[in-house]
Amino acid sequence: MTLLSVEDALKLVLEHAQPLAPRNIPAAEALGCVLAEAIASDIDSPPHDKSIVDGYAVCSADVARPGAELTILEEVTAGAVPAREVTAGSATRIMTGAPLPAGADAVVMVEQTALLDDSRVRIDAPAVRAGQNIMRRAASLARGQEVLAPLKRLRAIELGLLAEVGRTTIRAIPQPGVAVLATGNELVDAGQSPGPGQIRNSNGPLLAALVRQTGARPAELGIARDEAADLAARISAGLTHDVLVLSGGVSAGVLDLVPQVLAERGVQQVFHKVNLKPGKPLWFGTLARANSPPCLVFGLPGNPVSTLVCFELFVRPAVQKLQGQEPRGLRKATAALTCEHRQSGQRPAYWPAVVGCAAHSHPEVTPLSWRGSGDLRTLTDANALASFPAGERTFCAGENVEVLLIE
Ligand code: AMP
Ligand code: MG
Repeated sequence: MTLLSVEDALKLVLEHAQPLAPRNIPAAEALGCVLAEAIASDIDSPPHDKSIVDGYAVCSADVARPGAELTILEEVTAGAVPAREVTAGSATRIMTGAPLPAGADAVVMVEQTALLDDSRVRIDAPAVRAGQNIMRRAASLARGQEVLAPLKRLRAIELGLLAEVGRTTIRAIPQPGVAVLATGNELVDAGQSPGPGQIRNSNGPLLAALVRQTGARPAELGIARDEAADLAARISAGLTHDVLVLSGGVSAGVLDLVPQVLAERGVQQVFHKVNLKPGKPLWFGTLARANSPPCLVFGLPGNPVSTLVCFELFVRPAVQKLQGQEPRGLRKATAALTCEHRQSGQRPAYWPAVVGCAAHSHPEVTPLSWRGSGDLRTLTDANALASFPAGERTFCAGENVEVLLIE
């Protein structure tokens, strides 16, 4: 039987992943959500010509030469409005953000002035230009202007802008909820000392962090034993989320019960096993639900590097599509090998590697020597996965290969 290719498997995953329905979401909770409407401003920003320094509002023609002495009309702080017009021979003391008084066309910063007494100031600035130290009304944005377009992912910056234009609720695609379930009798929590035959659960925290990096919301469901009843209970909890990601239990071992228990919970298998290395035992299916879109279920092989590779190749693009984004996966680049690399076997390989780029030069990639898919330590040195097509062959130094850039 020929194995499903990575491309065909990804196509199947994306056919089943459809953008989630937009909802009204309080702006304060919208970090990481994807905007589903155009946002227009209800104000000019700034709302008035404003001073961008603390100083004196003047008529520039009046102070063309340094040393001019002016009468101080009043003091305007941010939040106040000027009452008097600035005319030849006068100035208004003004603070950053305050509205520019009528008649003034420049502001001289306080450091370039000397106060003579309570009502007189000398201007020592070398040359005062019209418009100096003034931000004009609507220079940043104008009332009615579209300031954010649909499909924009909301970062801290966008939440600040939403507040500036008065939006406290927005229409957005919510962050997908992704349940993470590690399976295996050998697993204990990170906080525990492993007993004989045991290892710590590294995939749970790894996957939860990857989920967060994609802009989704992880729900860690802990560790399921390799027993039908425990698996069934935890899988049922996981199936209430948009996506359920399991690790372990999908290979050919006697306790690899995940596919069977998923089938018993009504999850329809779409595929099992993909032609790639590491990650061949990958399992994917969906659960149809009455009142919500189907739950996407990924059974990732348990070795941590296999887990990572399968997440990056399949889960990340699926989550991107659920968010209405282009399902591009990791950023790709082409890089030249710094050394010879032997590719063996009939499966395309994703190899931990270091990509570097000196200024103005073509990126280079060095495959790391690693101990196989259980070797998460070596991956901490990697910033990329180098992709080698199937087949026995030696790649020469200088040859270009595709690399996936790990965040
Ligand atoms: P499995 O896919 O269940 O056959 O597991 C393959 C390998 O990955 C075994 O050596 C497991 O002990 C290891 N493994 C499975 N789950 C995890 C996990 N959550 N964290 C770290 N290693 C794991
Ligand atoms: Mg296992």
